[in-house]
Amino acid sequence: MMSPTTALSLPDYLQHMQMGSGYAAADIPCEICSSQSFSVIREAVEFQTDMWVQLQVVACDCCGFLFQNPRFTADFYDAYYHSRYRRVLSGTDVPSESFIEDQIARGAHLYQHLSPFFARPGKMLDVGCSSGGMMDAFLRNGWHAYGSDPDNDYVQYGLSRLHAPIAVQRAEDMVLEPHSYDLIVIAGSLEHVFDPNKVMAICRAAAAPNALLLLEGRGLAQARQTGRCGHNHRRFLSAASIELLMLKYDWEPIWVTDRELCGPSRPQSIFGLGRARAKPDPEAFYASLGTYCQDAVDKQRQLFTEWSIR
Ligand SMILES: [Zn+2]
Repeated sequence: MMSPTTALSLPDYLQHMQMGSGYAAADIPCEICSSQSFSVIREAVEFQTDMWVQLQVVACDCCGFLFQNPRFTADFYDAYYHSRYRRVLSGTDVPSESFIEDQIARGAHLYQHLSPFFARPGKMLDVGCSSGGMMDAFLRNGWHAYGSDPDNDYVQYGLSRLHAPIAVQRAEDMVLEPHSYDLIVIAGSLEHVFDPNKVMAICRAAAAPNALLLLEGRGLAQARQTGRCGHNHRRFLSAASIELLMLKYDWEPIWVTDRELCGPSRPQSIFGLGRARAKPDPEAFYASLGTYCQDAVDKQRQLFTEWSIR
């Protein structure tokens, strides 16, 4: 049986996924504060049951942001999410009935929690929408919506079966009408994208005055349940990093919570709700950054121990 200490090298990992060998990997700076200084929390992540790969989980020495390092170049993620991700995850290219039902149910829960914030139906953007089930409740209640996801088969399913207003597209490639979306939902997908800063910038530019951003992070939820970090999450959002990302892109955090806003099917997720600021306020980001500096890495280590994450 393989253990984290006998993890696959990156070339062997690529070979296991039948992705060839033409992808380079390199360390990156912190995606939140740009610090190049980080501490290794775990040496490897799990790829399949009891199969590990040498992708380190590190915490930024400055803000504590938890992320995977090194990273492959963008073309790896393009190829992976376009056609490999779901196959590796579930062994099939098409969503199951229960998967779609769960998406629709999650959207219904979310609609219930967020509709009080809106006097009338608006326009919603779902970033990383998969088959688009989450927007169902909003559409049925008079909202307009648009969603994008790079997974071709799941989007095709949503287009043909759910008639969802969605497209096959990386979040970094979205071309959106400026100042037009009243609600932007990024539910569990910011942890997968190649460039979260680009995605956050695109979303902010598309936000209508007074718009809301709902950011769901899976964080360490899966790792707590399985006792190991998976290879699919490039980063692990926390209450702190959700708040920092919002402030960095001029969203004023309203609350961050681990209440089950999308129902019980993804326990221990973390949700942040923010409102688009009328004027940019870079000071708010730096002030908040300062409060997270102390003990940031030690706190992450403690959580891994407390939650028995290998
Ligand atoms: Zn940082």
